[in-house]
Amino acid sequence: MNLDSILKDVKSVGISGHVRPDGDCVGSTLGLYNYICKYYPGIDCKLYLERIPDCFYFLNRAKEIIHVPEDKVYDVYFALDCGDLGRLGAFADIFTKARHKVCIDHHKSNSGFADEGLIVPGKSSTSELIFELLPKDRIDRDIAEALYTGIVHDTGVFQYSCTTAATMSAAGFLMERGIDYSAIVDHTYYEKTIEQNKVLAYAINKAELVLDGAVIKSVITKDDMTRFGVTPLELDGIINQLRITKGVEVAIFLYESGDNEYKVSLRSKRKVDLSEIALKFGGGGHERAAGATMRGTPDEIFEKLEEEIRHRL
Ligand code: AMP
Ligand code: MN
Ligand code: MN
Repeated sequence: MNLDSILKDVKSVGISGHVRPDGDCVGSTLGLYNYICKYYPGIDCKLYLERIPDCFYFLNRAKEIIHVPEDKVYDVYFALDCGDLGRLGAFADIFTKARHKVCIDHHKSNSGFADEGLIVPGKSSTSELIFELLPKDRIDRDIAEALYTGIVHDTGVFQYSCTTAATMSAAGFLMERGIDYSAIVDHTYYEKTIEQNKVLAYAINKAELVLDGAVIKSVITKDDMTRFGVTPLELDGIINQLRITKGVEVAIFLYESGDNEYKVSLRSKRKVDLSEIALKFGGGGHERAAGATMRGTPDEIFEKLEEEIRHRL
């Protein structure tokens, strides 16, 4: 894929990422958005995302993000970090209407829904893919901050098995662009509000081990969120803490997202391919990190997931 030929003679560009934007979604879209705004000032470029977590607002141009779809036909539209059309949420229509649809993504479950795609499941993050696409001499501090943030989040600060030597050298290059890499990690990844810490403690406290300790599971209801004063956006770190429990292969975390409906997060350590399991339930993801939205009570959902996990252990 050649970005500069995609952008040649183009007048308008739209960019979106997935619903409930995470660090990679925000970092990759803002990286590309900053690049186009700076080096293609003649292009009318807009970035559309759902509300993003507060910790990402320090990134350049984050305040320009548009949160509601518009009735517009773009020459080119980029869908980043999205494995299928549904992941674009309210922005699926504006993407579909665009004259040329481009997808840049690293999900194993990617369904190939664009006219042109760069889909590399082996990559740590969409931000690393954007890094590889951009001319290196044009990666300024603003772009570097966004892409570094994205890489940090999807690798769990260079911890997960998706981290490769190429990821580390991309991160090294970005560090040399004058970014405050230590503050980015602290401020966007580790820092939690007291409310977040308390709901994390509560979720860990009520977690249960099943399948001989190979699976850990926990759930947060809407009532819990009200009681702790948090929104779903603030439940991000819980699945990571569950995952690192000694002896565990798979961690399951649910939060109530609607009537009789739960958002499911799955993480595995070495063996279980979660993208397969998530796809069975209408979701998607990677081998070691996947998600879905499922209907039923928490016990019913856990039972279905455990059934799928049991024969893969
Ligand atoms: P999460 O547990 O929400 O952090 O998601 C883990 C991974 O699975 C991320 O790469 C997501 O993009 C992907 N994912 C989560 N939920 C869904 C879903 N409903 N459909 C497709 N992919 C998902
Ligand atoms: Mn993502
Ligand atoms: Mn990603």
